Amino acid sequence: MTNKYDLLLKNGELIDPAQGLRGARDIAFRDGRVAALDSEISSNDAREVVDATGRIVTPGLIDIHGHYFQHIVPFATSADEVCLPNGVTTTVDAGSSGWLHFEGFKEFILTREQTRLMALVNLSALGMMSPRRSIGEDFGPTIGISGGPQTQLDPRSVGELQDLRYAQVEEAVQCIKDNPNVVLGVKIRIDHEISGEANTIGEANTIPALERARAVADMTDSFVMVHVARVPIPLAQVFEYLRPGDIVTHIFHSAENNVLDEKGNVRTEVREAREKGIVFDIGAARRNFGISLSLTAISDGLLPTTLSSDITKVRPQSPVIYNLPQIMTPYMALGMSLEEVIAATTMHSSNAIGESGRLGTLAVGAVGDATVIDLEEGEFTYDDGNGESISTDRRIAPVITLKDGIVWKPGEA
Ligand SMILES: [Zn+2]
Repeated sequence: MTNKYDLLLKNGELIDPAQGLRGARDIAFRDGRVAALDSEISSNDAREVVDATGRIVTPGLIDIHGHYFQHIVPFATSADEVCLPNGVTTTVDAGSSGWLHFEGFKEFILTREQTRLMALVNLSALGMMSPRRSIGEDFGPTIGISGGPQTQLDPRSVGELQDLRYAQVEEAVQCIKDNPNVVLGVKIRIDHEISGEANTIGEANTIPALERARAVADMTDSFVMVHVARVPIPLAQVFEYLRPGDIVTHIFHSAENNVLDEKGNVRTEVREAREKGIVFDIGAARRNFGISLSLTAISDGLLPTTLSSDITKVRPQSPVIYNLPQIMTPYMALGMSLEEVIAATTMHSSNAIGESGRLGTLAVGAVGDATVIDLEEGEFTYDDGNGESISTDRRIAPVITLKDGIVWKPGEA
């Protein structure tokens, strides 16, 4: 007798914001997809049964901002080491590679990881492999930037966009066209230490680097992800270049030109951009999210669209490296509900990368990715690398990861 289903996840509490569902459900998988969803599915119908009693079942988590071009980009990490063990089944490398080294990135990383891995091509041909170094662990103020400790750079550092000639529009466009479903759009960092003069607003009142990223996205019908921490340009001017579907990452950074005005209220133009459909992404790691700023913004009704880790390798000068569940937990303490942090890592993340309906949901027919979570009780503290921390008494702890309808096991990556 053949079984109707390959695998049955039984007795869990399903939270799937894309279907507006929270409740006890059994979920069956077949041929890598969700095959059935019901309050009771018989164990006899499945070849393998996994018990999720007392646990929460969500769609496989999606992290839309990480760095995985390891061995080439100095701070990049291994997607398979940080994603699948932590309930993340899909992730996006946010611009580690430019067009120039993309073939290598594809050959040695993208096609070899078990994690579902997509990428944004950096506007700079160099990607993130220009020689940019911090000086030890000494965090002092950087020129022209205030509002939180910043990395002090080695004077020999060169950012990937300090020479605008590296921003080669035609080649970036070709890279996106040559890699459909793999390269989703273009990434740009307008951090002043990285872009320098490419950020200049001159007589023409333009941000040249961002103008080129816009052109790449328009010519490929894709989107821009723009890094906005440590930028000497007000967000309102950055938003002028963005359209619905573009992503602003590090949106809750607490350095100059953040989402709050001088009085500590959410800026009107920020609310307007969010309402217009610009994706507000957290990109948390390495001092790029502020705890009190997040508290203020969220209590003022400004929720991030997506939570992401910006995960990298742990380095001595990187005070905060959190994986995705380790970002979800503090954001619950910062004012988001459990459903909201799950929506921000499933439904909204899949929308942001153009995969809604296929990923980020456990609707019948969707890709069979699921994450089983324990809500652990205890005392947990998270810090933002800017001198602020927050404690909470419950933590999101992923215990089982299913990718393509199969239970992921350590060592089988
Ligand atoms: Zn990043």
